[in-house]
Amino acid sequence: MSDFHHALHPESRIVHPPVEEVTGSRPLGVPLHQGHVFAFPDSDALAHAFTGPGQAFLYNRYGNPTVRSLENAVADLEGGAGALATASGMGVINTVLLALLRSGDHVIAQRSLYGGTFATLADLAERWGVEVTHVGGDDPEEVRAALRPTTRLLHLETVSNPTTRVTDLPALIGVAREAGVLSVVDNTFATPLICRPIEHGADIVVHSATKYLGGHSDVLAGVAVFADAELHRRVWQHAIELGSSLDPFAAWLTLRGMQTLGLRVRRHCETASDLAGRLAAHPAVTTVHYPGLPAHPDHEVARRLLPDGQGGVLGGGVLAFDLAGGRDAARTFTESVRLAALAPSLGGVHTLVMHPASTSHRQLDDAELAAAGISPGTVRVAVGIEHPEDLWADLEQALAEL
Ligand code: PLP
Repeated sequence: MSDFHHALHPESRIVHPPVEEVTGSRPLGVPLHQGHVFAFPDSDALAHAFTGPGQAFLYNRYGNPTVRSLENAVADLEGGAGALATASGMGVINTVLLALLRSGDHVIAQRSLYGGTFATLADLAERWGVEVTHVGGDDPEEVRAALRPTTRLLHLETVSNPTTRVTDLPALIGVAREAGVLSVVDNTFATPLICRPIEHGADIVVHSATKYLGGHSDVLAGVAVFADAELHRRVWQHAIELGSSLDPFAAWLTLRGMQTLGLRVRRHCETASDLAGRLAAHPAVTTVHYPGLPAHPDHEVARRLLPDGQGGVLGGGVLAFDLAGGRDAARTFTESVRLAALAPSLGGVHTLVMHPASTSHRQLDDAELAAAGISPGTVRVAVGIEHPEDLWADLEQALAEL
C-alpha cells in the first residue's frame, strides 16, 4: 500500500481496498476470481508458491486473489502484518487455536465468551487434553495468578455478549506478554474502526466477518489478523490442512459490505446510544447494558478503549436491557416487535432482538445466568441502521405489550 493510502483515514482506505491484480487500468470494484486453480510457467515457480501465504496463487485452499484483497483490507484496518480469511468466525477461531495449541498446553480465557468459542475450548479440554482456566475481563492479577509454565494463549473479547462488558485489553495482555504468552482478541463487536487490539499488544485479532465487516446478513466469513508475519505463516500452514479457507464469492461480498463500514458503524453506535438512553428511562426496564452509558460498570475502560475522539465512547451497535417482568416479559417483548426481527446474529443493517436466557445461554440455570451478569429478563438488541425514531416507536410499542 502506498504512502498516500497510509495517510488516509480508515473510512477512506476501506473504500479503496488493495486490489490484487492490475491489468492496464485499475478496477474500482474488487474483481471476483472464482476459479480455484492457477497455472505456472515452470515447476520451480509452482514449487515456490507452496512456501508461504504471500507467494503466487496456486490453489484456493492456499490463497486466492479476491480472498487476499479481503485479508489485506482487514490487516490494514487492524494494523497487522497479514491476515487469513476462513469460512466463518468459528472457522477462524478453531484454525487459530488448533494451529497454536497441543495436548498439555494451558489456555486462559475470558469467562463471558461467545458460546461457540466456549464450546470449542471445552471440547479441546475434554478430548484433546488442553487445560483451560476462565477469568473475568477486568483484573490483570487474576490472569497473573492463572499463569502456568504450560500457558500458551490468553483468549479475550473486546466487548462481551450480551452484557457489553468491555475488557481491559492493555492490562490483561500486558501480563500475558511479560510471561511470553500469546494473546488472541475477538474484536467482532468493536470492529477495527472503534478498537484495534494490536495497538494494545494483541498478537492475533479474530473476527466473525459475518457481522459488522460483511454487514448485510448475507455472508458467513472469519478473518484473523496477525501482528507478526511468522505467526501468520504458522496459522496459514494449519488452515491449509484444515481446509477452512473462505470461498472467493463470500470474500467478495464481505469486501463489498466493508466499503460502507465507516458509515454503518457510526450509525449503529449513534442509534444504539440513543435507544440505550431512552430504554434506561422506561419504567419496565431495570438496567440497560451499554458501554456508552456513564452508569455502565466499564464506562471508564470504554472511554480509553472505545474512544469517539471527543472524550466519549463509541459503544458499538449491541445493547442489552433487563425487564422487570423477567422471562415472561422478555418473551412477550421479543415476540411483539414489528420492525425489529426476533433472530440471532448482529452487525447487519437490520435490527434484531433476542432473549439470551432461552436461546444463546439456554444451557445456564438462573444462578449461572446471574454469574454471567444475565437475568432471566435480559433482552439483547443488535441495533441496525433503520431510522432511530422508527426503532424507538417499535421498542416502545413492544414494551407497552408487557
Ligand atoms: N465471535 C463472536 C463474538 C460472535 O458473536 C460470533 C457469532 O455470533 C462468532 C465469533 C462466530 O462467528 P460465525 O457465526 O461467523 O462463525
